[in-house]
Amino acid sequence: MTPMKVLLVEDERRMAQLLARGLGEEGHAVDVCHDGETALRQAADVPYDVVVLDWALPGLDGVSVLREWRAKGVAVPVLLLTARGSTGEKVTGLRAGADDYLVKPFDFEELLARLEALHRRGGEHLAETRVGGLSFDAHRRTLSFEGREERLTGREYGLFVELSGHRGDVLTRTKLLSTVWGADFDGAPNVVDV
Ligand code: CA
Repeated sequence: MTPMKVLLVEDERRMAQLLARGLGEEGHAVDVCHDGETALRQAADVPYDVVVLDWALPGLDGVSVLREWRAKGVAVPVLLLTARGSTGEKVTGLRAGADDYLVKPFDFEELLARLEALHRRGGEHLAETRVGGLSFDAHRRTLSFEGREERLTGREYGLFVELSGHRGDVLTRTKLLSTVWGADFDGAPNVVDV
């Protein structure tokens, strides 16, 4: 496993300490922030591989931090931690630019596996992908075609990675829902069409 540089944003000190220790024991380098304002500056200054971002923070909450990062072009993969499990809140988090979502309480092993998956998906193998006339920059998460450039949302990015990894194959809605939206997605399947 490639060591990751992780930013952990969690105001509950005990939780932050446990997670940081666990990630450190797996060989990852972890910086910890306890509030949104600090996290906002930190991820803009330091190139992290992944961010673990708690939703409920004092002052600026996790979703606001995430929106500001995305608006500023900070494209680091973000896993949002939350005590909220409803679909509406999940959608809010994902629309704000989260790449993945974990509801508290969770197993450390699951967090680790999800972070590693995020890191792989945003990793070097996709750094400069070309599909037909499309050119994809994984670091900036932009897609260019005939001189036009678009920044992808987390979901668009997931779809692009899934589709470009199965060139020539037919992927069903069900398959895309489970791989891109996650096995626990319980919204309408026509979200794929949209
Ligand atoms: Ca919290």
